[in-house]
Amino acid sequence: MTILSTILEFNETFVSEKQYEQYATTKFPDKHIVILTCMDTRLIELLPKAMNLKNGDAKIIKSAGAIVNHPFGSVMRSLLLAIYELQADEVFIIGHHDCGMSSTNTDHIIGQMVDRGIDKSLFKTLQYSGVNMKDWLHGFSDVTESVKMSVDLTRNHPLMDVNVPIHGLVAHPDTGKLDIIVNGYDFVTKK
Ligand code: ZN
Repeated sequence: MTILSTILEFNETFVSEKQYEQYATTKFPDKHIVILTCMDTRLIELLPKAMNLKNGDAKIIKSAGAIVNHPFGSVMRSLLLAIYELQADEVFIIGHHDCGMSSTNTDHIIGQMVDRGIDKSLFKTLQYSGVNMKDWLHGFSDVTESVKMSVDLTRNHPLMDVNVPIHGLVAHPDTGKLDIIVNGYDFVTKK
């Protein structure tokens, strides 16, 4: 049994027994929020539970480190779509302690790529094309600073509605405890 076949087998039962019925909802977030958080496995169920969120309550974007690092990348596009098209009125950027992106060893990652067959000369070619692999793979050393930077970038985005509060929080990956880093209400005029 492969991972894929195990999942598909389970899925057949899930659908035929109509287990999906308990999750019925719409594409619009009932609590009118969009969350950007990390892909960390510890947060899959813990974070929504710790925030009292159920299926349908929030738009959730996941990315390594919960980092907004490109003003016109897919994370920012998702945030803007959530706000302008999908009725999200507030943004929550939630990093977490002990994040894999806080200890990214870029040399190790590049070494792993080479070990798995990526041609070393490619990294030189990328460098000439303006892609600095180390910068691109690098995460952050302080999650609080990282959350602040992502909040700033989002709040100051030229296409962002200035009346949308952009909150910054840090979660504990074992307890789900949330610490507020930036209170987005402090920066909007309409409250
Ligand atoms: Zn993480």
